Amino acid sequence: MSAQFSIRDLAVSYGRVRAVKGVSLTAGEGQIISLIGANGAGKSSILRAITGLTAPESGEIWFDGERIDGKGPDQIVARGVAMVPEGRRIFPFMSVRDNLLMGAYRRKDNAGVASDLEGILTRFPRLRERIRQQAGSLSGGEQQMVAIGRALMSKPRLLLLDEPSLGIAPIIVREIARFITSINRDNGVSVILVEQNSRMALKLSSHSYVLETGKIALSGPSHELAENDDVRRAYLGG
Ligand code: ATP
Repeated sequence: MSAQFSIRDLAVSYGRVRAVKGVSLTAGEGQIISLIGANGAGKSSILRAITGLTAPESGEIWFDGERIDGKGPDQIVARGVAMVPEGRRIFPFMSVRDNLLMGAYRRKDNAGVASDLEGILTRFPRLRERIRQQAGSLSGGEQQMVAIGRALMSKPRLLLLDEPSLGIAPIIVREIARFITSINRDNGVSVILVEQNSRMALKLSSHSYVLETGKIALSGPSHELAENDDVRRAYLGG
């Protein structure tokens, strides 16, 4: 599979804190990859560097044959990269519908926007039932659906998900997991999934990277990592 997306030797620092210390990874077109690792391993820092929110200290980030590190968040979104940040960051006082439409603010194809909105509501019936409700009044899991839906409304080709299962009831986590699989399968969107829920991450992705203190400790096909004794002990509870 061609590497649509790659990072080469990325380093990110905050003053003296070296959060990411030379990370390389690739994602083929239409592939789901996952980054797993403990709190503070540097996963969010990698996502923020990809989206242009944090300037890398060194290294290169490539998407569709173009180097995107050094570009601003707006230019990166315009190239088809969307992120669902940790903690969701929806607009609590806006309706579910308006939150979703905010994701399409750059688009001019009104008919396409309407049909994508319809597609998201079909996949997340819970959101259709609550379409006029203020987003801040939804449960955490429903807000996560809004956040993912909003990112999809920008029609991304690469979707970055930062801990979509964090603090969410298991039954909703399963619904979100099915959704991620279906948008990847049906729309061909590539996904980089950051998760502390390693079980979910390994199940959804084809390839995974285990991050420890800013470095990749281990990587490989997800089904192989799921069988690896060290991974099982450290990340899957034995
Ligand atoms: P989490 O799951 O807790 O978000 P993470 O794997 O995503 O963890 P990062 O958030 O990338 O890890 O953090 C990596 C390291 O960088 C940590 O030691 C963290 O304390 C530090 N760090 C992150 N953001 C900043 C910042 N703005 N200023 C200083 N240090 C930071």
